[in-house]
Amino acid sequence: MLFDVNLVDREFYRSRLADFLPDRIVDVHAHVWRRPRVDRSAAAEARTVSWPARVARDGPIEELLETYRLLLPEKAVTPVVFSSPTADEDLDALNDYVSESAAHHTIPALVLAHPSWSGEELEQRVLFGGFLGAKVYLTYAPDYLPSDEIRIFDFLPPHQLRVLDRRGWIAMLHIPRPARLRDPVNLAQLLEIEQRFPNVGLVVAHVGRAYCPEDVGDAFERLSGARRMRFDISANTNEEVFRRLIGAVGPGRILFGSDLPITRMRMRRICEKGLYVNLVPRGLYGDVSGDPHMRELDRPEADRLTFFLYEQLDAFRRAAEGEGLTRADVARVFHETAAGMIERAGAGRAMRPAAPPVPPPGPSGPPPGEPGPADAPVSRRPPA
Ligand SMILES: [Zn+2]
Repeated sequence: MLFDVNLVDREFYRSRLADFLPDRIVDVHAHVWRRPRVDRSAAAEARTVSWPARVARDGPIEELLETYRLLLPEKAVTPVVFSSPTADEDLDALNDYVSESAAHHTIPALVLAHPSWSGEELEQRVLFGGFLGAKVYLTYAPDYLPSDEIRIFDFLPPHQLRVLDRRGWIAMLHIPRPARLRDPVNLAQLLEIEQRFPNVGLVVAHVGRAYCPEDVGDAFERLSGARRMRFDISANTNEEVFRRLIGAVGPGRILFGSDLPITRMRMRRICEKGLYVNLVPRGLYGDVSGDPHMRELDRPEADRLTFFLYEQLDAFRRAAEGEGLTRADVARVFHETAAGMIERAGAGRAMRPAAPPVPPPGPSGPPPGEPGPADAPVSRRPPA
């Protein structure tokens, strides 16, 4: 089996999630890639976080589909897939793999876009690869910019937004900057995108990385004039943040995303003084002593930890119930809004559930946990 699903996990899913989740689900945020990740333990960079690389160094499509079968049994899940920046920076190879995987399994996909591409180049790559839009990453902002000073337009430039706008394509955006969602530069540029490029299917990933209530600030008041931008709930487990999101934008602009394979992690997240801390079983993710976002638990507490994805879904369930969402509202979040966005971006491109999947044809890539090359170059990784 790809990973263990134990009694604690099954009971958590059965008692809290199985009935809450609709039978059909669109996951708007899933990563697939084939290349080994850099072993981040070899490179302690103070300005970035290292824990995501410890969960999965390789993310083949077959493993993603198997993960849905294991974690969301009896649900028909359609992922929107895109790559994950790797150290070798070979964007073409990364995108080719996503394009081929998506075509083979008939699932929607986004191109990992570089800000140096002209608008025409982006357009050709999206069309040629059968993509529905772009996933952009601050990793590709110009090297001379310190991480904390990167702005959205440094890696999602207006000349590319013009193309995405004209085509009605999707832009999946992981926002930069240490202040996250409440950052005034982020908020100004998010509003500018909505005003100047209203036809872009803009998705603000991870609720703008607001993993603790302190990250929200007055963001939703400042964004109150916005009517279109959507927020995915991937890799976020904060009930209060979700409640404020639901209260501010309503269920029609919230999308389910998983951020798999990261959320395969066995983990519960807490906030302390406005900073998130992932509680994990001791030893499971290597030496995490240098990472302020990680803390280890011993047994028997550690034995009660379940998957990051389940904690995310359960936090959203509690928020949805607290805010009085109906089953129809929940269906919009988990399926309908995303299906409409995909339909529009693909102008009728066929979409069908990818799960339950067919068994993978054979071994694909190194098993999870196998170390990547320790001497590989380290690229700038977006802060989680
Ligand atoms: Zn992601």
